[in-house]
Formats: sequence, structure tokens, C-alpha cells
Amino acid sequence: MELLKERILREASVTNNDVLKLDALLNHQVDPLLTMEMGKEFARLYAEHAITKVITIESSGIPVAFATALALGVPLLFARRKKTLIADQDALCERVPSFTKGIVTDIMVSRQFLTTEDNVLFIDDIIANGDAARGLIKIIERSGASLAGLGIVVEKSFQAGARTIREQGIQVESLVKISSLKGGKIEFE
Ligand code: 5GP
Repeated sequence: MELLKERILREASVTNNDVLKLDALLNHQVDPLLTMEMGKEFARLYAEHAITKVITIESSGIPVAFATALALGVPLLFARRKKTLIADQDALCERVPSFTKGIVTDIMVSRQFLTTEDNVLFIDDIIANGDAARGLIKIIERSGASLAGLGIVVEKSFQAGARTIREQGIQVESLVKISSLKGGKIEFE
């Protein structure tokens, strides 16, 4: 997506060789018009897949997942990051390490909203090692829902996450692929 590449070059900054700061576009501030364009692009890429629901993980995935759900005319479901010790019998939970925070968090989805009838499109902001994505994929599998594929705004293709998920036979579509951040320079694939 050329528009997104231009915006990344103008508004993102490189924190180190592995991390791109995208607060201006994805992780702190959100541009509604740009986000709607991302949602329309994901909806176009998965138009023939009979998606019943868009799913993401709170919080940075929510705006673009919302835009995608709106374009597809289906509900949006977001996995919550669990902050309670009270066991919820009705929840599917997975523990995932956080790439940027260096901690583990538990993500959870209520069984009530994800059923064997669903064919879901999983949207997320950034993929690095793929831990967050693998956690939600496990939840989707355990729910019995079908996974149509993933839509990722920024794939850092020098890290293994998206590649390993594709190797599992799962479709992964990224709006931009970044092949390197070395020396503070953003290189697209
Ligand atoms: P993964 O689980 O794939 O290693 O990391 C995915 C999550 O970590 C993303 O949803 C995103 O929130 C965060 N993340 C990973 N790499 C970056 C990065 O380069 N920049 C920012 N801002 N967040 C990142």
C-alpha cells in the first residue's frame, strides 16, 4: 500500500535495529481516513472468503480491525488482555509474551462470541516474532471456528513471525513489508 509506505517514511521513527516507532499512525494516534483505507484494502483482499467476523487483540489492532469489519459488514471481536485472577469458565485463554513490553500477558476470548459457525479474519497492527498472533490462532483453533487468514498492517519480514505462520499453511496478507531497520533506515521489501 503505497500511501502507507509514504506515511511511514514521513511519520515513523526507528527505535533500534528491531523496533519501529509507529505512535503517529498505529500505537498512540490514529488517522481515521488512513485507517479506513487500510480496512477497505483488507476487505478487498478477503472479499471472496465469506468472513463472518473480524478478530484482533486489544488495543492497537482495534482501529484497523474496526475499519475492516465495517467494510466487510461483519462484527468485530477483540481478544482482551486479562487483568483479573478470577477464572472465567466461559473464556478461551492463552499466555503470550509481549515483544515490546518484555512481559507476558494473558489474552482471552469469550466462547460465546466465537463459535464453529464462524469464519474469522484476524487483523493486527504489527507482526514481529509472531507470538501474539500464534496465541490468538490457538484460541481460534480451540473455539472450533475457521480461520480465513491474517491481515497485518506492518510485517517486519526480517523477523520470523509471518513466515512461520505462512509455513503452517495460513494465508497472511501484509499492507507493507519492512525488510530492514538497520542503521535507522526503513527499507521496504
Ligand atoms: P510479536 O508477538 O509478533 O513478536 O509482536 C507483536 C506485537 O508487538 C505487535 O502487536 C505490536 O504491538 C508489538 N510490536 C512488535 N514489533 C513492534 C515494533 O517494531 N514497533 C511497535 N510499535 N510495536 C511492535
